[in-house]
Amino acid sequence: MSAVRIGVLALQGDTREHLAALRDCGAESMPVRRPAELDAVDGLVLPGGESTTISHLLREVGLLEPLRARLAGGLPAYGACAGMILLASEILDAGTRGREALPLAGIDITVRRNAFGRQVDSFEGDVAFSGFDDPVHGIFIRAPWVERVGDGVQVLATAVGHPVAVRQGPVLATAFHPEITGDRRIHRLFVDIVNGRR
Ligand code: GLN
Repeated sequence: MSAVRIGVLALQGDTREHLAALRDCGAESMPVRRPAELDAVDGLVLPGGESTTISHLLREVGLLEPLRARLAGGLPAYGACAGMILLASEILDAGTRGREALPLAGIDITVRRNAFGRQVDSFEGDVAFSGFDDPVHGIFIRAPWVERVGDGVQVLATAVGHPVAVRQGPVLATAFHPEITGDRRIHRLFVDIVNGRR
């Protein structure tokens, strides 16, 4: 069987780190910047960055509606931080009008942008993760949290009383950034999801 091909949305954010993490897990990986590239992948990673800017760029390059359509059709996706925000079905504190973060509705959750507040803008901590023997070291950078999960959404990790890792079918999202820790378990989980193994 040939390796699955997983795209990394390459408009802004940690594209290189995600491409490398996916390769470490045995997947073929490629950057996605336009609709034809989206058509060529079996799954997509949406990196962190700034969700308002990524939304704007998605629209500029003509990827917004094609991506919504593929997600509605069951495309496996993994979103980290801003990627989690974009994959949500509803975004609170989405930003100023005309420049707000736009939900792609890949997973039935409501997220709040920049939820952890100013004092703890960014923090790190070990988070228990469902199905893993040892905790994940979570790096949260102006991170969102989840305020509502729909039916069929599994909560995989929580921090300060809020879900920070969730999964619904083939869509996975974390409020933190595993691509910068060297821990490949979350990328491996996603590669397994794309392969239909988990
Ligand atoms: N605060 C950013 C946003 O709203 C997310 C930050 C991140 O991806 N590290 O998109």
